[in-house]
Amino acid sequence: MSVHADLHRHLGGSIVPRIFWHYLHRSANRLASEYPVFEEFEQYLTRPRATLTEFLELHTMVERTQTLETLPYFISKLVRGAFVFEGILYLELRHTPYYRTDNHLSERERIRQMREVVRVIGKASYQPEYPIRVRQILCMHSRLPEHINRAIVDLAAQEAGTVCGVDLAGPDTLYQERLKEHIQMFLYAKSLGLKTTCHLFETANGAYPELLPYVDRIGHGIHIPLQRPELLPAIADRGQCLEVCPTSYLGCTMYAYPLNTKTCSRWT
Ligand SMILES: [Zn+2]
Repeated sequence: MSVHADLHRHLGGSIVPRIFWHYLHRSANRLASEYPVFEEFEQYLTRPRATLTEFLELHTMVERTQTLETLPYFISKLVRGAFVFEGILYLELRHTPYYRTDNHLSERERIRQMREVVRVIGKASYQPEYPIRVRQILCMHSRLPEHINRAIVDLAAQEAGTVCGVDLAGPDTLYQERLKEHIQMFLYAKSLGLKTTCHLFETANGAYPELLPYVDRIGHGIHIPLQRPELLPAIADRGQCLEVCPTSYLGCTMYAYPLNTKTCSRWT
């Protein structure tokens, strides 16, 4: 069988709809009563979203169910599926640890609990029957304040055994007002010896060439050749890898401009 590596998979978006639906019903989650029939739930998850922000609401919905207690279950299903059905032997799994902490705790306690989240994910990722190597990328988030993003970078550096880098995720429309801060944060990450990646040029609104020099890899970058092809030589000179996902670009309406496709968004 052919084997693969996946460099860009979100913990909040990688749960198969049927597994998630069964989980909601078994745990008597509020969403279960809203969607008693699986097909309706699947339709809700996969209907087209017009914007990245709207699409990310799906991640938020999943994130709320991923706690210290439930993470081992979700990770076990994810690792099994990646190995058995996709032939993946190396997987970089990205998530914002703060959003998996207990939201009843104080901010300070939640920041402290992020370490436990990373360790639980690291432990659950190791399953001898599915010999797949999983590393984590910790995502700073455009909705989180600077001091929490900084704590995420610090944690990534301290947990280098299971974490291989940091990312910036969340609605890209929010980057603009904090560009200087994000650049400083990437420089800080690099000073700690971390690899960096960032969701950039993923949408027509996410074009921030100012951030390009500070990342080792570019999350998506699909709109660079479409809108700003003059940036490509410098990207090649810096040896920056683009984490592309052609099936998403062809399937998602939120990537439509100027691809002009009208099919469903993919739940991956
Ligand atoms: Zn992503």
